Amino acid sequence: MDKVIEIFGSNVFGDAVMKERLPEDTYNILKSTIKEGKGIDSSIADTVANAMKEWAIEKGATHYTHWFQPLTGITAEKHDSFISPTEDGGILMEFSGKELIKGEPDASSFPSGGLRATFEARGYTAWDPSSYAFIKDETLCIPTAFCSYTGEALDQKTPLLRSMEAINKQALRIIKLFGHDDVKRVNVTVGPEQEYFLVDKTLYDKRPDLIYCGRTLIGSMPPKGQEMDDHYFGVLKPRVAAFMRELDAELWKLGVLAKTEHNEAAPAQHELAPVFTTINIAADHNQLTMEMMKKTALKHGLVCLLHEKPYDGVNGSGKHNNWSLSTDTGINFLKPGKKPEENLLFLLTLVAVIRAVDLHQDLLRISVATAGNDHRLGANEAPPAIISIFLGEDLESILEDIACGTHHDNIKGAKMNIGAEIIPAFKKDNTDRNRTSPFAFTGNKFEFRGLGSAASISDTNVMLNTMVADVFSEFADRLENAASFEDEVNCIVKEVMDTHRRIIFNGDGYSKEWEKEAEKRGLLNLKSTVDALPLLKNEENIKMFEKHGVFSRTEINSRVDIILENYTKIIHIEALTLIDMMNKEIVPVISSYTDKLCATLLNKNKIGGINSEVERELIYRLSAAEKEIFTLTNELKMATAASEKINDVYEKAVFYHDKVLKLMEDIRKYADSAECVVPASIWPYPSYGELLFNI
Ligand code: ADP
Ligand code: MG
Repeated sequence: MDKVIEIFGSNVFGDAVMKERLPEDTYNILKSTIKEGKGIDSSIADTVANAMKEWAIEKGATHYTHWFQPLTGITAEKHDSFISPTEDGGILMEFSGKELIKGEPDASSFPSGGLRATFEARGYTAWDPSSYAFIKDETLCIPTAFCSYTGEALDQKTPLLRSMEAINKQALRIIKLFGHDDVKRVNVTVGPEQEYFLVDKTLYDKRPDLIYCGRTLIGSMPPKGQEMDDHYFGVLKPRVAAFMRELDAELWKLGVLAKTEHNEAAPAQHELAPVFTTINIAADHNQLTMEMMKKTALKHGLVCLLHEKPYDGVNGSGKHNNWSLSTDTGINFLKPGKKPEENLLFLLTLVAVIRAVDLHQDLLRISVATAGNDHRLGANEAPPAIISIFLGEDLESILEDIACGTHHDNIKGAKMNIGAEIIPAFKKDNTDRNRTSPFAFTGNKFEFRGLGSAASISDTNVMLNTMVADVFSEFADRLENAASFEDEVNCIVKEVMDTHRRIIFNGDGYSKEWEKEAEKRGLLNLKSTVDALPLLKNEENIKMFEKHGVFSRTEINSRVDIILENYTKIIHIEALTLIDMMNKEIVPVISSYTDKLCATLLNKNKIGGINSEVERELIYRLSAAEKEIFTLTNELKMATAASEKINDVYEKAVFYHDKVLKLMEDIRKYADSAECVVPASIWPYPSYGELLFNI
């Protein structure tokens, strides 16, 4: 491999390239735009575009594209070549400032939740200079926001940028109160840990469910799953290691700070964690990471599955969203320091997050609501659908002491002694790990673990940024007018603890007792997307988003529709796939094997004196399963047809949740029971054992 330092960022029009290739004044204007998040000065656009083009052509690029994130969940590109004809029949390679700043893709072909009718299809993409342009597949990619002709956001990036502004504005008010007048900007920092599965491509190709749905719709567990805990952090298989090496290199070229790669809990499951960065870039990079995972896997004869629940019976995949706030001068709001009990900025931020999360449990849950993630949340492997915060005992007792006015001994920085002399003593972390908590304080950041593996991280961060901005604005209003700053901070901490104590839970989030306890505490338990989504339209939510300029009422309404439509479509495709698999493969296989058993039975009886109980029993069992599968599959088919008549988006989603999903689960039970007795040699699909262990 080339030297990492040389390849890192080699396909990015980043700071060093800009400095080298742009005139000094242009560079300075662009740099301050990026640093302070200000609007772009369009007078520099032509110069920047030209420099980008020259650089890209030297790197072998022939095309450019505005790279954006419509609400399809993936990124979109529309490639244009740089060529422009000359009068003498030749060509020039051109790229203008106008082309850099603005694009006009047809908006009607992307989800808009009714915002865009096909006859008014115009949409705009607009350059986001805060995320660097890069080269991918011989194409110069310009990160852009995507909106309608009337300015409504049709993408993930626009609300994210708006929410960054909202929290910057309020966090600046807070940090100024602490006397840090030199701070110009407060950024949200995020490190998303990405989980995924790998599966052999030839096996994948034999599974229509994986091909069409990204997850298996049937499949019985092999004798071994993940119960031995021997995969997590285990030694990498050579093929997987080769894949990860190449993935890292590809990501480094794109400036993605890929850092940690390891095996996850389930067989064939892995994780990649980057070093954290500003949320806008982290979100773009996470999209690129998912894309590169898929592409790179193919080169190794593998397929990368990003679905939240590819296999029943082993863990699903998620993303951990590590979130914090940091000033352009390097202050992390959530760094406890040596004496957290005296660190007022830390304590204030901590209670701001606590208040925000308790007030807006619904928004966090909504931000991770998808058909895929519903299979994961609330199962005994992922955070529960109930939102709660893990602080750890030390921090909780600091806050309780302030709330109750008692004294707290400084127990920070205790040395850890693991009892082996040769190992140097190291400092204990302020908090232990609690893997079962959906929202955990982990040292100098909060980690939200509810995100699905396939979704963009934008939604969650839009919610987090806005709700914390809202609480900050409330705190700033009070503190700016307070007679004594310190007394007021203490008062706020006390009030938050008194009002929001219920959201703090350090125990086992997977336990049944917690579900009961949470209910007693009045916490929400939104089990599915259809339970969660309607709450987004609550008046107080709309007011908050409008107050901070993140979403308009129209945008919220359209988003709810888009998410629900997406939910319905996904389950619809799954249902059709399952119907196909049952009718064309499973029922015929069960039938022909039963036929064979019948022949054996008859032969045995003909000879006489040979025991044929086994055949008889198998025939009964299989024909019963076959009958159930056949009947239920018909019912499923009728249900998908009946759904066409439901016009209301929400009603339709509920129908898919209550009726269609339920039927699919029932069919699966019978198909899986049949798989256990039909010979592997004639079962039409690769088994879980092969899919999970043949890498
Ligand atoms: P674990 O698996 O224990 O959660 P990892 O090291 O895999 O830990 O992931 C931690 C993630 O948190 C990394 O992406 C890291 O860069 C990120 N992180 C660390 N500090 C911050 C911070 N201040 N803000 C946001 N993310 C952070
Ligand atoms: Mg983590």
